[in-house]
Amino acid sequence: MGHYVRAFTEGSKEQKDLLGGKGANLAEMTRLGLPVPPGFTITTEACRFYLATGTLPPGLEQEVEDHLAALELEMGRSLGDSDDPLLVSVRSGARFSMPGMMETVLDIGLNDESVLGLAAASGNERFAFDSYRRLLQMFGATVLGVDADAFAVELDKLKAERGTYADVELDAADLRGLVATFKEVIRRHTGRDFPQDPREQVHAAVLAVFSSWLTERAVVYRRQEQIPDDLGTAVNVQAMVFGNRGSRSGSGVCFTRDPASGAPGVYGDYLADAQGEDVVAGIRNTVHLTELEAIDKTSYDALLEVMRLLERHYRDLCDIEFTIEAGRLWILQTRVGKRTAEAAFRIAHAMVGEGLIDPDESLRRVTGGQLAQLLFPRFDRSAARELLTIGVGASPGATSGRIALTSARAATWGALGEDVVLVRRETNPDDLPGMIAARGVLTARGGKTSHAAVVARGMGRTCVCGAEQLDIDVERGEVMVSGHTLQEGDVVSIDGTTGEVFLGAVPVTDSPVLRHLEGSSPDEADELVAAVAFVMEHADRVRRLEVRANADTAEDAARARRFGATGVGLCRTEHMFLGPRRELVERLILAADDAAREAALAELQPLQRADFVELLREMDGLPVTIRLIDPPLHEFLPDHTELAVQVALEDSLGKRDERHHTLLEAVARLREQNPMLGLRGVRLGIVVPGLVAMQARAVLEAAADRVEAGGDPRPEIMIPLVATAPELALVRAQVEEMAGSIRADRGVELPVRIGTMIEVPRAALTADEVAQHADFFSFGTNDLTQLTWGFSRDDVEAAFFPTYRDRGILAASPFESIDVEGVGALVTSAADLGRQVRPELHLGVCGEHGGDPRSIHFFERAGLDYVSCSPYRIPVARLEAARARLV
Ligand code: PEP
Ligand code: MG
Repeated sequence: MGHYVRAFTEGSKEQKDLLGGKGANLAEMTRLGLPVPPGFTITTEACRFYLATGTLPPGLEQEVEDHLAALELEMGRSLGDSDDPLLVSVRSGARFSMPGMMETVLDIGLNDESVLGLAAASGNERFAFDSYRRLLQMFGATVLGVDADAFAVELDKLKAERGTYADVELDAADLRGLVATFKEVIRRHTGRDFPQDPREQVHAAVLAVFSSWLTERAVVYRRQEQIPDDLGTAVNVQAMVFGNRGSRSGSGVCFTRDPASGAPGVYGDYLADAQGEDVVAGIRNTVHLTELEAIDKTSYDALLEVMRLLERHYRDLCDIEFTIEAGRLWILQTRVGKRTAEAAFRIAHAMVGEGLIDPDESLRRVTGGQLAQLLFPRFDRSAARELLTIGVGASPGATSGRIALTSARAATWGALGEDVVLVRRETNPDDLPGMIAARGVLTARGGKTSHAAVVARGMGRTCVCGAEQLDIDVERGEVMVSGHTLQEGDVVSIDGTTGEVFLGAVPVTDSPVLRHLEGSSPDEADELVAAVAFVMEHADRVRRLEVRANADTAEDAARARRFGATGVGLCRTEHMFLGPRRELVERLILAADDAAREAALAELQPLQRADFVELLREMDGLPVTIRLIDPPLHEFLPDHTELAVQVALEDSLGKRDERHHTLLEAVARLREQNPMLGLRGVRLGIVVPGLVAMQARAVLEAAADRVEAGGDPRPEIMIPLVATAPELALVRAQVEEMAGSIRADRGVELPVRIGTMIEVPRAALTADEVAQHADFFSFGTNDLTQLTWGFSRDDVEAAFFPTYRDRGILAASPFESIDVEGVGALVTSAADLGRQVRPELHLGVCGEHGGDPRSIHFFERAGLDYVSCSPYRIPVARLEAARARLV
């Protein structure tokens, strides 16, 4: 067989890169002997060739011809035959699922002759002409570029003439007329006739599918989901089976467990006398899958058997599309199903219990991002609230926002920072920008498998769908429900777990998972809490990285410890200089002589010491990294412009204030063009006499206090913004001297480690020299990113990152997720250089990246000892640190 095309009998589920997700799974099911209509897959390689060159790969058309001929032989029917013709579908199928983003054309092979063959063979003229009009509609819109509305308008006109809303009430003669009308629509819009040659139809449809990789909605979706742009899609050409062949036919979608909650059971939607796209589009209302048992027990039992088999084979939740044609079950697609965060944890836990997967695998089945979602608050059940209606809880969470009735409105309001709930009759791929911008999505039509549900779950947006009582009038900007008329812009609240919709904003309460992780309510009876507890326990067994907290107060440290932190990785001591203590710092800066400065330091010292005692008590027995003061001093002084105006005003009124003049002089003296690059960190400690000594004394006296109180303090003193070894050597000597004198004074053993942040590229590049004076390195990836890229960490994200992202220069902000190639390379080489000099050098990271899943995977690879992050991210970091070991 040729190079760019594979029959379903030739592939397997491992070949997703080449065959796309759908193609690989069709091949897998074919191998398993399931009833899959035969067909073949044109590989992603062919698509990439086409996207790169604008032409089809040499020989592809002949390969497709050969496979079509083989398919005709296997089916015993021919394309375009006037006597029982073969029809095929042409569907996209990329490596990563992109629901509804790319094109599909069904019923290919119909033309003016074969439609009669189909009518004769099926004994159902209505069905044949309905299929033909569907082909004209889909082919016209997706392949020939005719506006889809042009067809919809004609269909609506016909239905109005017949006085019906339902497609099924149109008879064969109506549909025959509609075929003629649709052909005319195509002729009018394209100046050409609909191609009658089935092989020409196949080739044109394949090209249209390839090209659909580049449509705007597909590009937007890939950017949102971080799917690379250069993968291309495969194309599946498959013999058609028909769910719209009367009452013994139908189509459905099912899940092997509930994708919203993870509960076991039969979940799915079924629609009689319909093709698959009718189910997913939510155009007509489906019935629950269990009702199929009464309609067609044989097919229902066969489907349950397929569900069991697929779930055991894939060892995961499967999402299956099926069609029943005249009482015969066909499986059209399966894939590992998308699920909510709650379902992910519950299914992983349950499958370990069922012996389907091992505990390590349960860690691969969940993500830190999903865990973070479970920490979200829920609506307060005791709060007064007015229920408007109940729909289907399709993606959990509890959120309130202003009603936006169009995707564009949601996007505009979202960009202004408003909380928005996108309210639509049903969503389609064009609503994607609005769904991204909204906090939640509410639809009037469709079930758990509708577009809105699938996409919202994938994005982690709260979603309620199928709230059928909603009567939405986009033109008037109104929603009518339960006797209320809501205007666009009014606030509603939606609960994506229960499907409830409330009027106005409803207050929220903490999630049970959060309470469990904080150790306040070990509610193991809750299946979700039990699942999270199981996964986290195993994560702690598997992970190598320690997880510490960035905590400046005893309260934060206590919370972090409850969340499982094993130490403080960063206490920013400058935060202890805020509030009323600001005035003391001001005095320190304004000190006219040594005596005044020392007096100010002497007053600050006991305050700091008391803070450190508390912090060390909360983290007793665990390391606490205390960083000496970092920010530029002017941050503790008033704003220059405001002060200058005040002084000028006072002077002009003859009310000169000497203190304000002195302050203004100091502000002017300390003002810097680039404070981030100025007098801060270790530089301050070197320039301001007594500052390091004061802080070191505060830490060490606090430790001595704790030792005397029977505690086990483990302080680590960390020097920020070091660029060169001599800086560190100088400050280290001062700290050691202080430690020596306090040991002697107090007569206690004081364990203390002294280390540095690595956050200036020069320090990273000379890490072997720096390490000679350091017991540990803590990578300050915030400053390291800022200084490596030359990006101001305070300004650029709003200033030009959006453009950089749109132009494809940056996929994600390097301040959120570590830039592995650049900043990451500095981290790796500094770690190596440091350990060459000191093999026992302890290595960690305390920038924002310490709590970011992708970055944590990198820090695991780089061989660091710990990550440190804000208290609420600690559970996520524990989980991701374990996952990082497994991949
Ligand atoms: C850093 O730069 O990464 C860091 C942790 O320090 P700060 O954010 O306080 O500058
Ligand atoms: Mg820093």
